[in-house]
Order: sequence, then C-alpha cells, then structure tokens
Amino acid sequence: MNLPLPAVCDFSITNVCNAACDFCGFARDKTLAGPARYVDTDAFSRALPILHRRGIRYLTLQGGEPLVHPDVVRLVSQTVAAGISCAMITNGWFLSRYIKSLAVAGLCQLIVSLDSADLAEHERNRGLEGLEGRLAKGIALARECDLPVQASITVNRLVRYDDLPDTLRRLGFDHVSFSYPRSEPFGSTSLVYSEQSHLVDLDREELLDALDAIGRLRKRFTVLNPRASLAEVARYVRGEQQAVSCIGGYKYFYVDWNLDIWRCEAWNEPMGSVFDLDRIPDQREPCNACMMACYRNASMLMHAAVAATDAGRALASGQIGTAVASLFRRSVAQSLWALIEETPRIRRLARSRRQTASTNGLSRRQTASTNGLPASERPANDRAEA
Ligand code: SF4
Ligand code: SF4
Repeated sequence: MNLPLPAVCDFSITNVCNAACDFCGFARDKTLAGPARYVDTDAFSRALPILHRRGIRYLTLQGGEPLVHPDVVRLVSQTVAAGISCAMITNGWFLSRYIKSLAVAGLCQLIVSLDSADLAEHERNRGLEGLEGRLAKGIALARECDLPVQASITVNRLVRYDDLPDTLRRLGFDHVSFSYPRSEPFGSTSLVYSEQSHLVDLDREELLDALDAIGRLRKRFTVLNPRASLAEVARYVRGEQQAVSCIGGYKYFYVDWNLDIWRCEAWNEPMGSVFDLDRIPDQREPCNACMMACYRNASMLMHAAVAATDAGRALASGQIGTAVASLFRRSVAQSLWALIEETPRIRRLARSRRQTASTNGLSRRQTASTNGLPASERPANDRAEA
C-alpha cells in the first residue's frame, strides 16, 4: 500500500523500567507489568519493512524504559537503515552511557521525561536519587552530538509551570511537549496510567487551568503542543464536541514488545500481529474517546492533509460531492490554521534533525555496514548492555 502521507508509530520495546514513578504502572515497584519482556531484535528487524510499507516514517522507541533493552543501539540503527526516522523517550538515567552510540546509530530526536521544574521533586517521584546530575550530563552529551532534546511532561500536581522555562533552559532542552494524565487502565499492554496516584487525579478545573498554563508557557519557551490542539483537549475536558477525528489506526499506531500493532495505547484489542499488517485495513471509524496528547497533536496537524487525500481519492472515483464535503469543513480550516501557526517550529525541528543526520551521517553508514558482523567484531559502542 503506497500512502502519500507519512504515518507515526510509538513502539514499546520493553515492559521493564528502572524508575518508580508514582503515576505509572511500569514502575519497578509495581506488579502490573508481569514477567520482563524485551522485543526480539531479529523480529523487530523483520517488522520494519512492513511498517515502512504502511507509510510509517517516524518511530519513537519507548518502554517501560527503552535504554534497559540489551540491544537498544541496534534497534535504532536497524530503524534508520529501514528508512524510518527514529526518536526515543527515556527517563534519562542511562543516557550518558548510550547517547553517543545512539547518535552514531542515527537517533534523530531525544525525548526525556520530566515531572517538575523542581528537580528534587522530579527525582523523588522517579525514585532515582542523583537523576538531576545524570540528566544534565546526558543532555550535554546529546547536544555535543547535535541531537535535538525535548522534554516530555505529564500534566501532574508537581509541574510548577511558571518555573519551567528556567529549569528547561538550565538542563539544555530545546523544546517541551505535554501529555495528559490518565487514571483509567488502557486496553492495550501500555501501563502509563495510575488508578491511585494523587499526582494525576486532577479534576476538570485543574485540567483546564493546566491547559491555560501550557498556553501561556508558549510565550516563554518552545512548546510543541499546537494551540489548536490545546483548545481541542479543553473541549474534551468540558465535554464539548470535538473538531477533528483521531488518526489512531490510520496515521498513528502503537506496537508492543509482542509485535502486536494497536490502533493506539487506549484501544482494547490489537489490530493484529505486525506481521499481518499488509492484510489489516486502516481503522477510520471516528473516535474521540480519550485525550492522549501525541495522537491529539498529530491529529490536529494532519487533519487537513488527511481531508485533502480523501478528497483526491473521491475525485479520482468521480465523487465530486464527497470531495467537496471532505475539504470544506470548519475542522479543515482549524487544522490548516494550526499548521500555519506551527510551521516555524516544525521547520526549526526538521532543520535540526537534518543537521543531526548530516553530522552523524558518515558514522551511521559505518554502523549500518557493521550490522551483519558478529558482536565481537562490531565497534564497542554498538554492543549495548543494560
Ligand atoms: S513514566 Fe517512564 S520512567 Fe516512569 S515508571 Fe513509567 S515508564 Fe518508567
Ligand atoms: S481518541 Fe484516543 S481512544 Fe480514540 S483512537 Fe485516538 S488515541 Fe485511541
């Protein structure tokens, strides 16, 4: 299937985590995750061309904590060799051990989670004493490798929005994105929720205040949540009608360590095995059942392009009315406006990713060319250990 619009995939490569975040079921001191699971490296490699055929061009490695996967550097180099841009979200504890190898392997974006502008509170919530120093060192090394570094903050009671710009600048972050808290279990294997954490049991007014604070923060730091997406989530919180449908299952997917592919983390049954993806249709039934930020941000930014693609297909089959109806909707105007507003930020991000790719290009080709060698003959930094 040759789709013109790129798709995105969040890939959980393990259910193991070394941190103890109060608001997450992957935490090391909780029992929800069950036996430790790590995606099989060869199976991961065989899945990549299938994902590429489905239009996936952006893949984020996540966990649990992806840096505890014993073959994480190889997973990055395989992703890049398959023609898919690779990002990673990590708690940062093992960053300084791996970041140079990851950059050489072709990582194009580093995302580090942060819970508070007060790093002592962040450390306490993560249960990782000494994390501040390790983050500072790891991020400094990432910047030496010209990797763009993004903070990922879950809206919670510790955040301290007004103090964030100073902390983010001091640590060396280029930009920040916010995700929204979840108190109900997901239907999938993802455990990034907590039914009991006081940090995330925010009521409607607290959530709306947080969205306002994020909107204000956009004037002081580069925030990647589009203004239109913040407004859409505010409508969700107020129980109002949503403007755009989620692209989960069409242009955004979740894959887990079992190599099952899901419409999203929240969905309660997988679309199937990733190895059957060529035979699995897109899931296009409208859905606005949750406020997961990554899906909401991407849905808002891609809605106009999705509508244009649908209109093109309708025109090609002679359905002029359907084509016109697809294009001339208020939601398309909202999406276009979001795109126009975000274009400078998107360009800056793309530019820094291109610079990273060209800076690390030679090394990456060298890494790719060593992939077929036995471990003993590969460069030391390509033999990652947890
Ligand atoms: S939020 Fe991230 S770092 Fe914290 S327990 Fe969950 S997976 Fe681990
Ligand atoms: S709105 Fe939520 S539940 Fe629905 S497809 Fe998107 S991410 Fe999944």
